[in-house]
Amino acid sequence: MTTADAHAPAVSIRERYRDVVSDRWPVTVAPQADELVSSWLHRLAYANGVPPKAFVRVLGLNPGMWSAALDLRLPADIANLLYAKTGVAPDRLAAMTLSQDLPGQLLLPLRYNRDRDSSAWLQFCSRCLTEDAQPYFRRRWRLATRVSCTQHGCRLRDRCPSCHGCIAVFDQAGLVPQHYCVACGYDLRRAPVPYISPTTRTLDRCIDNICSLEAIAHSPFGPMLIRRLLSMPSAAGGYYSTMMLTGLSTAARTYCAERLSSRSEWPVDYATYDEKDRKARRLRHLIPPTSDHCAWIELLANALGRRRGRPVVSEGNEPGIKLLDLLGAYAGMRPGPGRRLVQELIGT
Ligand SMILES: [Zn+2]
Ligand SMILES: [Zn+2]
Repeated sequence: MTTADAHAPAVSIRERYRDVVSDRWPVTVAPQADELVSSWLHRLAYANGVPPKAFVRVLGLNPGMWSAALDLRLPADIANLLYAKTGVAPDRLAAMTLSQDLPGQLLLPLRYNRDRDSSAWLQFCSRCLTEDAQPYFRRRWRLATRVSCTQHGCRLRDRCPSCHGCIAVFDQAGLVPQHYCVACGYDLRRAPVPYISPTTRTLDRCIDNICSLEAIAHSPFGPMLIRRLLSMPSAAGGYYSTMMLTGLSTAARTYCAERLSSRSEWPVDYATYDEKDRKARRLRHLIPPTSDHCAWIELLANALGRRRGRPVVSEGNEPGIKLLDLLGAYAGMRPGPGRRLVQELIGT
């Protein structure tokens, strides 16, 4: 053996051999934070040179909204196939579905159509897509209660601003990254950011913070909160008052949230400064820490039960608190253990 042979790449030959005989697909992409399994599958297909519309045959599934359906339920045989082909473990794949920790009643239904006021199955934040090294779609963008981005505080979109088509990457027949509109090719990262008021952002974050599946399941007021969230268009009044929250587009749901959280929509409060100060101090005694999800679920459910011009309806032991007062208190509170400062979240 020569000196050169002593440094022969014995290990690298073995590694190359393993690659040759491996069942794995040539390129594996790592799941990203809060990524939907559908988004990961679209990136995986693109990285391996297969359009999403053709990738459905690789998985042996029916066409249509095949990847969006996997977000709701990932069959064990598909999870095992993906594990064998990518090395991403089934429990990690399961964590990318929607069945783990999000209330199913609040998910946007699986549909995509051109009626501008109707809900679409998925929303996006153009700023998030712009900042992503590999643009991807988040799990929480599937919730009907979400209308703003946690990171950027801007309003979400559910349609391409160029052709008003919904996101339909599962139908992409070309080899194109998923942040381009399937219908017209518009780069969704360029989508302008629509306005959303700071109070509506606070309502959005408040709901998002307390509305985990576990918290809802453990609170006796969980089912009532779900019902009242779904009835937000009715509580808000106005154009969409006969609709369910999950049936409305992001713009229509924002309209309802703006009406609910807008001070001009409620009777004028003529209280003096001292009276308002006393009220604020009284509220601080009544409001639990943000980490007490159970208490917040009851407070929010009661606050959302109030229709404009009617008294607060409380079904619990606590007196009913107006939604605006509740949101004001929430925005001014310190976070519980492990939670981010509310002001930091809402960007005010
Ligand atoms: Zn964002
Ligand atoms: Zn388009």
